[in-house]
Amino acid sequence: PIPSYGAGSHVLLFPFMSKGHTVPLIHLAQILLRRSISVTVVTTPANHSFMAESLNGTVASIVTLPFPTATNIPAGVESTDKLPSMGLPLFYEFSTATSAMQPHFEQLLETLVPRVSFMVTDGFLWWTLHSAKKFRIPRLVYFGMSCYSTSLCMEARSSKILSGPQPDHELVELTRFPWIRLCKEDFDFEYRNPDPNTPGFVFNMKIIESTRESYGILVNSFYELEPTFVDYVSKECSPKSWCVGPLCLAEWTRKVYEGGDEKEKPRWVTWLDQRLEEKSSVLYAAFGSQAEISREQLEEIAKGLEESKVSFLWVIRKEEWGLPDGYEERVKDRGIVIREWVDQREILMHESVEGFLSHCGWNSVMESVTAGVPIVGWPIMAEQFLNARMVEEEVKVGVRVETCDGSVR
Ligand code: UDP
Repeated sequence: PIPSYGAGSHVLLFPFMSKGHTVPLIHLAQILLRRSISVTVVTTPANHSFMAESLNGTVASIVTLPFPTATNIPAGVESTDKLPSMGLPLFYEFSTATSAMQPHFEQLLETLVPRVSFMVTDGFLWWTLHSAKKFRIPRLVYFGMSCYSTSLCMEARSSKILSGPQPDHELVELTRFPWIRLCKEDFDFEYRNPDPNTPGFVFNMKIIESTRESYGILVNSFYELEPTFVDYVSKECSPKSWCVGPLCLAEWTRKVYEGGDEKEKPRWVTWLDQRLEEKSSVLYAAFGSQAEISREQLEEIAKGLEESKVSFLWVIRKEEWGLPDGYEERVKDRGIVIREWVDQREILMHESVEGFLSHCGWNSVMESVTAGVPIVGWPIMAEQFLNARMVEEEVKVGVRVETCDGSVR
């Protein structure tokens, strides 16, 4: 039987330590709080300030557990966007290290009052299932992927289209979804070449097995966006999934910077306001919190934005990369380059923003769709290639960038 949870319940949320996994669970916290449910969010010391700022003004309690030490993870690096590289060995070491938090997590479960009614923990924190079982607390798994990507991964694997002799870029039809054609390059190398001896394989199996034994799955999507694939996941995946998105709409209200707060307005919002006054439309270019973009590609993006003559707001995360000489001066009448953390939803909801050059991280796609901003997809890693296909071919709210070397698939 499905227990009913309402006011007076106590929900524990435990996001994986990366921004793309944390932001949607912060939104979920806001939804639960609105229903008079108590919320405890678990994080680590270096992630506390981001969490506290995001939940400022709410009654959510934030608990920190020490982040374990690991051989190749520099001290103080507790979020994947701070890793020296997004190379997979380091990523797996980081993710696997989290399991050493289990004793601290269980001490916390013992002491939390009122008793936790259910927990929502990230799929990557597979070991939280063992703690949940020990304390007889239902665990819901948070997955940051669309049902489209999940369905395509499952179908590609079971129909074995990834293991044929065809070249990596050759498109092959999926039997179950005959209008969709995929190529090997749409998937990470590790996914199409599963090797039980690799840390990636072991990590993925732990996620799959612990998810199967959990109470349910929460998906940041909504039925109307991808009905065929929500139905597929409901039919083919166990345990039951619930689409609870778009989570980014949870608490979004336009920020008001009147009076004393006007000085708080970020300079890029002031800049967007000016573009609106001039009636010029802006292309927002940003690639999420952690994608690694090569220098060559950054140089091409810089050149493309300059030569396009459009107004643009470009967020760059690669600290060690400098813009070409004189760039900002040359584009100053219509372009702005930001290196700080921005409120992406505030930018996408700004009336002047009419296009988003995006890596197609799933949160970015959802935020753009809900803001009604068309996407130019430039996928870089993980399931972003599938998201970009979905944007162009399935939901038809954008196009993929054409590159001469096929680096955008
Ligand atoms: N984000 C933000 N400001 C930034 C960079 C990212 O608000 O300067 C947010 C963005 O709105 C999204 C999340 O961080 O909610 C990034 O998730 P996404 O899935 O788009 O990409 P990832 O960072 O996981 O590759």
